[in-house]
Amino acid sequence: MRKTTYWLAVDIGASSMKVALWDGRRLSRVNRTDFGSSIAKPDWIAQRLCSKLRSWGEPRIHSAVVGVPALVDPEHRTVLTSVNLGWRNTPLASVLGKALGVPVYVETDIFLAARAEAEVGAGRNSADFVYVNLGTGVSHVRMLRKAPQLGAHGLAANLGHAPLFSGRDRRARQPCGCGRPYCVESVIGGRVVATVLRRWGGREHRRFWRDYGTNLGIVLSCMASLLDPERFVLNGGVCASRPLFEASMLAAFERHTVHPGALPKICFSRLGDRAGLIGAGLAAQQMGNE
Ligand SMILES: [Zn+2]
Repeated sequence: MRKTTYWLAVDIGASSMKVALWDGRRLSRVNRTDFGSSIAKPDWIAQRLCSKLRSWGEPRIHSAVVGVPALVDPEHRTVLTSVNLGWRNTPLASVLGKALGVPVYVETDIFLAARAEAEVGAGRNSADFVYVNLGTGVSHVRMLRKAPQLGAHGLAANLGHAPLFSGRDRRARQPCGCGRPYCVESVIGGRVVATVLRRWGGREHRRFWRDYGTNLGIVLSCMASLLDPERFVLNGGVCASRPLFEASMLAAFERHTVHPGALPKICFSRLGDRAGLIGAGLAAQQMGNE
């Protein structure tokens, strides 16, 4: 019997890495490795991937796509800069390519996740949607007819660092991870959520989520005014708390958005934390055919 050939999908985050095989239709062998005390450098990642493939019986691989929380070069070879990983001009594709013996391409993680939503997720029937990731960081990408709109410098993904909260919230006055005050991420980023969940309970907890929804609704309303998308697709770890913030988010969105009739829809992802891997599989399949 002919052995299946796969594409290798890799999704590197700030503190863990996911890897899976993609057969053109679905993922298999989905595996997650926490970095723990290890420092995620390309050589270490190459070693982990090789040992994973050995443990899977050395499946045949066409090529690999690796998602990174970073800005990458247009040739998909080098990570130009990643605050989360502390990398700069890192030749990730060539290090991994040498170790794996197949072509490797790197891509900004959110572009891969948005691509998965456009092809097989909540953006499937939408010609113009904005994907918003509510994780530790907050980021976005506009997908126009299934193509990410990257902007003049490839930076049109930084919703988290838009200074939208000047003076409105005391948290916004604290410098964000980027060193600046007033960032969206300082108010609705996953770090704030984690801190609140650790410290607060009961009524304060409910008030926090109500305010969270209001702030998120205002952020989406700003984007609706700037971009007028058909819909938003929300994903990321914070979405697990959807029942706690959805009502106030929708109320604020409706209250603040100027619209003649139909508002942009707000949808939640069903692909969840596999969106990045599915997007990597789809991208590998396409890049291998170019
Ligand atoms: Zn910032």
